[in-house]
Amino acid sequence: MVADRHFKDEMIGIAVGRVLFDEPMSAHTSMGVGGRADALIFPDTAEGLGELVSFLLGEGIPFLPVGNGTNLIVKDGGYRGVLISLEALQGLEIREFAVEGDVGGVPVHAQAGVSLSGLVDFSVRESLAGMEFCAGIPGSVGGGVKMNAGAWGREMRDVVASISILDAEGRMREIARSDLLFEYRNLDLPDGAIITGADFHLLRGDRAVIRERISEITAARRARHPLAQRSAGSVFKNPPGCPAGKMIEEAGLKGLRMGGAEISEKHGNFIVNRGSAKAADVIALIDTARKRILDERGVLLEPELKIIGDES
Ligand SMILES: Cc1cc2nc3c(=O)[nH]c(=O)nc-3n(C[C@H](O)[C@H](O)[C@H](O)COP(=O)(O)OP(=O)(O)OC[C@H]3O[C@@H](n4cnc5c(N)ncnc54)[C@H](O)[C@@H]3O)c2cc1C
Repeated sequence: MVADRHFKDEMIGIAVGRVLFDEPMSAHTSMGVGGRADALIFPDTAEGLGELVSFLLGEGIPFLPVGNGTNLIVKDGGYRGVLISLEALQGLEIREFAVEGDVGGVPVHAQAGVSLSGLVDFSVRESLAGMEFCAGIPGSVGGGVKMNAGAWGREMRDVVASISILDAEGRMREIARSDLLFEYRNLDLPDGAIITGADFHLLRGDRAVIRERISEITAARRARHPLAQRSAGSVFKNPPGCPAGKMIEEAGLKGLRMGGAEISEKHGNFIVNRGSAKAADVIALIDTARKRILDERGVLLEPELKIIGDES
């Protein structure tokens, strides 16, 4: 349906921003695998996003928001429907006024398309402490908040004061921190909700101290993670008791290859693309690791990364 003339004409008619038809998602995900989306659309305003979503709802066309694609695998058969990237929503500012759900500190508003690294850089420039844990996490504000991204004992739940969403009926609304249900690597949102931005409460700090913490974190990441290869970050959530990567290492699975994908030699909870991987190779490694850890330890690992789309 998305490929037909009517859809293309409508898209051009409502001029929502950049529109790519039949777009290979391997070009938009950090793992660099995956088939084609019928359309990948980059609305350039929150209002344009609203119009797009109303149109898609009216036409019954499936859609999903994507961020920087750093925790995302699109299967080799691609995605039948529209993937909506919030990349063009780049607003980032210190709020001059208190925000709903304000819990003190300095309120910083970021639209969903701002990269977490951009938000970290901004907080360094403004001498604001609180975002250091995000140094080196390659996602966007929208994806980071949805995933409750975290590291070094801190996560989004510690810094988010409120979020703005476009709900499944196409209405914009704010949700205050007290009503946000953050879980381990997830923010429980109403079905179909798209995060358009978030307010963060940060604290005035010493720029040199903030910089120093970021350098420590960046060095630790370089030492532990296979940053020279393409990946989608942690594959599995850490179950209570033992980190997933340690279980995978103890099961002797590091270095296991399927097609062009490999369980990283450097970190057991990373799968890397050796250059020619297919989504099916990555998924086969995920299934193999899950089965082995279940058989050997009775623990069913839950994937952290999100897998969408159709088999080829
Ligand atoms: C090298 C590397 C290191 C990483 N380190 C960490 C780490 O330390 N900690 C950590 O938590 N993660 C880490 N990650 C994983 C990833 O960067 C985070 O999960 C990040 O928050 C995902 O953001 P994204 O914008 O790429 O989202 P995507 O991968 O594009 O999407 C992830 C999910 O969020 C949904 N989503 C995206 N945008 C929106 C939106 N606007 N509204 C609603 N839903 C949305 C998508 O539909 C999808 O379900 C790492 C990844 C890599 C490659």
